[in-house]
Amino acid sequence: MNVDPQLFILFSLGIDIFLCLVLVTVWWRHNDELQAPAWAIGQIALTAGTVFWRLGPAFGPRMPAVALMLVVSVAGFWAGTEFFLGKLDQARLRRAIAVTALLGLACYALFAVADDAFVTTTTVALSYAITFIWVGWRLLSHRTGYGVLGWVCVLRGLFNLANALQLVPTSFELWLVASLLVKSASILCLIHAVQDKIQKRYTHAIDSLSKGFLVYDRQGVIRTANERCARLLRAPAVRQLIGSNIADWTTGLTRSEVEDHFQRFAAATAYPYVETRVFRQGAPDELPVELIASPHYERGQLHCMMLVMDITDRKKKDDELYRAAHYDSVTGLLNRHGLTIELDRQLVQARQSGLVCAVLFIDIDKFKRINDSFGHATGDLLLQQLAERLRGCIGEHDLLGRCGGDEFVVVLPGLAPEQASAQAAACGERVLGALGARFDLAQHAITVSASIGVACQDSDGMAADTLVRNADIAMHDVKKSGRGDMRFYDEGMSAYAREALVIDGALRGAIPNGELRLVYQPIVDARTGRMDKVEALLRWHSATLGNVAPDRFIPVAEDSGLIIDLGAWVLAEACRQLGAWREALPQLAVSINVSARQLLEPAFVGLVQRALAEHGLAPQQLELELTERVLIGTGGQVHATLAQLRALGVSISLDDFGTGYSSLSYLTRFEIDTIKIDRSFVTGMVDCPRSQALVATIVALGQSLGLQLVAEGVETADQASSLGATGCHYLQGYHISRPVPADALLRFAGTSLPAAEAGH
Ligand code: C2E
Ligand code: CA
Ligand code: CA
Repeated sequence: MNVDPQLFILFSLGIDIFLCLVLVTVWWRHNDELQAPAWAIGQIALTAGTVFWRLGPAFGPRMPAVALMLVVSVAGFWAGTEFFLGKLDQARLRRAIAVTALLGLACYALFAVADDAFVTTTTVALSYAITFIWVGWRLLSHRTGYGVLGWVCVLRGLFNLANALQLVPTSFELWLVASLLVKSASILCLIHAVQDKIQKRYTHAIDSLSKGFLVYDRQGVIRTANERCARLLRAPAVRQLIGSNIADWTTGLTRSEVEDHFQRFAAATAYPYVETRVFRQGAPDELPVELIASPHYERGQLHCMMLVMDITDRKKKDDELYRAAHYDSVTGLLNRHGLTIELDRQLVQARQSGLVCAVLFIDIDKFKRINDSFGHATGDLLLQQLAERLRGCIGEHDLLGRCGGDEFVVVLPGLAPEQASAQAAACGERVLGALGARFDLAQHAITVSASIGVACQDSDGMAADTLVRNADIAMHDVKKSGRGDMRFYDEGMSAYAREALVIDGALRGAIPNGELRLVYQPIVDARTGRMDKVEALLRWHSATLGNVAPDRFIPVAEDSGLIIDLGAWVLAEACRQLGAWREALPQLAVSINVSARQLLEPAFVGLVQRALAEHGLAPQQLELELTERVLIGTGGQVHATLAQLRALGVSISLDDFGTGYSSLSYLTRFEIDTIKIDRSFVTGMVDCPRSQALVATIVALGQSLGLQLVAEGVETADQASSLGATGCHYLQGYHISRPVPADALLRFAGTSLPAAEAGH
């Protein structure tokens, strides 16, 4: 080989410099990889030492320069390796600098004293031999994963050792080539190690993300992904993901959606943008995820960088919250809120397709009593069984909800308008039938009945609230006239309901504001005209509504339960008044009207006892007027209460007799003292022979049962005399007196007695 050795050396040095520049550049770009400049310094110093040596003895400071470069080079390789292994700290560095300085001086002294080329080259070669073998050993023994680099360093060390021991080829060219190869290989390995470490650090950082991370291009081809992402996409490993199409891994993201991401980036809308998806890998295996996508440029190409987050837990919590807000916990049915939302949706759909929805509002009659007698656990059990039966009455697409308490709502969506009523009625019948059968609950056999109100969507803008409220109004209408039936909503009910709402609001303040008072209507002996009894009648002058007749406010109070308080007030006030009249009217009895709700109150008998005792009244001075409706359907409890009252000595009077069910069985089944013949018979008596006959029959019947008879609504003298002729015991009505305030009653007592007596 005929190569100019000088040129070859220059070439070799050039390669050294170039590779060192690469190392420095790597460091420069990442700033943190300090082993790169350290190794570069080591190599540059080595090269510089060679140059100084080659300059020959003519170069004055040759020996100190060679000594300096040697120690700087060794120090550079040492520091680079230690840093690479993560072992370099401040204290070590300080110690190393001191040792280097000392070694430098020692080398210089050796070279100067010996002044011999052989000593110098052998010392330098030996130093590098030790240095590289040490570097190789450090890398290999630390199992850094850079075995090749370690062995290449060992090889370089051995090459230097061979140099020191004069074992190298005698051909200078061959030696140069071998030296160049060993040297370049080791520096290339160093460059690779630095790059690799940087790469690994990023990969590690990405892999240790708790979120899936991936980058894909416009076609959806995945360029980068981390472990977590592979797991989320159910890929066997990251390797399989890279290069594949994202749409092949998940049904949550299609190719067109990938395209959509890029279009959004192009439109420069705000990003990163976030969306939630469900990744499906087979039906049962659903993975709710949140995707955070942002644009990312790689080699000038727009890519999508995406974070994939498993939101299973979050979704579960969201779902739980949603369930709690929309479903009833006892029955699992929709609650009022959930039902309203669903119904609104159905109403819109129905409107769009020219159909209508029907709503059935179902209230379980007297459910409260089941709760009170068997406890809430049994009540809940019953509700669950009710829900089950109701479900059996409706179709697959019908809605069923529980609106609190014992109220259920059925929605029949998408009915043809002309058939809606018939279908709703049929459903209502099914419900009434299904709920009529016995329920077996924890050793109790319970029967219930239901009242159903039905409303159909009729106007276009009808909201769910309105429809449910209408059905509710219709249901209350059923309740008012007995129970266990079904009724369709009509406008009239709504007017009543509105009025009831206003009255109810005002009535709540009536007692505390002193807006109530009692008037008294005399009940006189038909023969003697003596006032034996008075009926106490309630009057309400509302501050906002003015005078409101009892026919308007009593039913409202009965519906809302306010009648309990009103009734207690009436009882107390009537007894107080009778007590106050003790001097003037010692024989007088007072009759008060009592509603069903009052009798069902367990405290009622006690209340009566206390009222009597407080005003020093004999129980015989009090009479309670009940209507037939109070007695109907209220089984054992009312019976027992009445028996207790009778045992006290209080009389019971059956009001409005003849208007209601007029079942004679009440007369025998309940212990009753008095029958009050309704005004409607009395009114027709004189002109209508049928009424006359009927009254005569009732009187005869009453007498045969040993009951007292009172005729109500006696407005004329003719009526009074014809009633007297039939044998009716007592008369009450405008003919005798209108209901009057307490003070006016005293005046009536003072004037009427002689007049009445004078009449006989
Ligand atoms: P009721 O128990 O049948 O009371 C008799 C009603 O007939 C009273 O009307 C009375 O003023 C009226 N009346 C009496 N004599 C005549 C007459 O000759 N001709 C006509 N046309 N009417 C006569 P009022 O006071 O308006 O009471 C209406 C209803 O309100 C009562 O009917 C009763 O059911 C209820 N009510 C009144 N006060 C109370 C009360 O304190 N508690 C309860 N639960 N209900 C009450
Ligand atoms: Ca009455
Ligand atoms: Ca009456």
